[in-house]
Amino acid sequence: MKRTLLTAGDCAAVIGLVREQVQRLQPENVARYLVVALASLLTTGCVEKNTARHEVSVPWALGGKQLVADLHMHTRFSDGALEADVLVRKAFLAGCHALAITDHSDSQGKAGTVEYLNALSALRKQYPKHVLIGGLEWNVPPKVSGTHMGVLFDPLVEQNMIAFKQRFETPNATVADAFGWLSQMVKEPAHIAFIYNHPSRLGVPDAQVLAQWADWRHASERAIGFEGGPGHQNLTPNGAYSPVPTEERWDPAIARIGAAWDQLLDRGESPWAAIASSDFHKPGTEYTPCEFSRTVLSVPEATPAGVLKALHAGSFWAAQGHFIDYLLFTANAPGLVMPASPGETIRVPLGTSLKLRIALERYLEAKPTPLAVEIIGNCRNGKPERLAALNITPTQSEIETTIAAAAPGADGTSCYVRARVRGQNMKGEPALAYVNPIRVRVAAAR
Ligand SMILES: [Zn+2]
Ligand SMILES: [Zn+2]
Repeated sequence: MKRTLLTAGDCAAVIGLVREQVQRLQPENVARYLVVALASLLTTGCVEKNTARHEVSVPWALGGKQLVADLHMHTRFSDGALEADVLVRKAFLAGCHALAITDHSDSQGKAGTVEYLNALSALRKQYPKHVLIGGLEWNVPPKVSGTHMGVLFDPLVEQNMIAFKQRFETPNATVADAFGWLSQMVKEPAHIAFIYNHPSRLGVPDAQVLAQWADWRHASERAIGFEGGPGHQNLTPNGAYSPVPTEERWDPAIARIGAAWDQLLDRGESPWAAIASSDFHKPGTEYTPCEFSRTVLSVPEATPAGVLKALHAGSFWAAQGHFIDYLLFTANAPGLVMPASPGETIRVPLGTSLKLRIALERYLEAKPTPLAVEIIGNCRNGKPERLAALNITPTQSEIETTIAAAAPGADGTSCYVRARVRGQNMKGEPALAYVNPIRVRVAAAR
């Protein structure tokens, strides 16, 4: 029998106090606080053991700092038209708080050299309040495949970039060797992030994207996900995607319901794909970083390490077209002390009703137009599908719906929910924002 020391009203008040306290805490203290709070709530009977609980939590998800970022751009260190200092200044003026310079690692370019690292260090000194990460856009071997991977380095370990380029931008290099070597050289997984750039740009079929990802993830936990929102957004064909075009500016492997991203999520894997990048080379065919394609991260601290932690944790969303400035997707269930947000995993009894909420703030300079929200996932039937289509009127800034966690997906133990929001950018063109998924482990009710 349920042991309750407090009335339902008392419990609601206590849980309310815990939630308020979490909002006030520094992000790094939230996890410790929640462990103690949850233990007390279990003792009082306010939270029962077999109700919902967090299995993977991102302590900074709700209280972290919000950083607008662009994680993919080129300078004159490879084939970009602008000097790094000119591009960085333009990007910060356009609203970036964080960026990664990812020049091509081709051997004839100057990325991944001492000169490149010196330029990055000088720019960090010049812009101490901004976050600047160094990286490479690596030609995944064999180079003829045209597969590109963004490799981001924490400044603490970025000197490894030089040897990485020398060893693995070569005809006989393999992904397994490259990943193996980097794990030897850089022990802390969160100091590196691999991003599968513009996965279907050259018409690569879903099955191949899926197989590629499975191989990479098998070889390294540093592979964090996909650039779902590719760059070259002012170019025809959009994104330089040919023969298969982008879908409303997003990569088809991510945008089509049931495509590679959903299939991986259905299998219980968690690649993050809510990444939109400028892939800036020159003004005109690409927008300035953060002017159009924006990735917005919730970070534990505004540093390169904080950005990399958020990339590994999945605490971010992204938009093609600047139409919203803030987007929060949460899932709540009876027993949860805090609602779950992207990147987190909760455990709930099978059949639990999940209250899903989208809260957003429109870009102040954009016209307040209606927004369409889609909830996508496999929690209803165990297969990826559109679970709900909702509308936010021009005067609303949030919407809720309820979905039952009624079935696990192909992994047999969990399902997931994700969301996207469709609106209009300043020019009246369709604009779309994507969030990362929330995973729901479904357990048989006791
Ligand atoms: Zn590329
Ligand atoms: Zn690029």
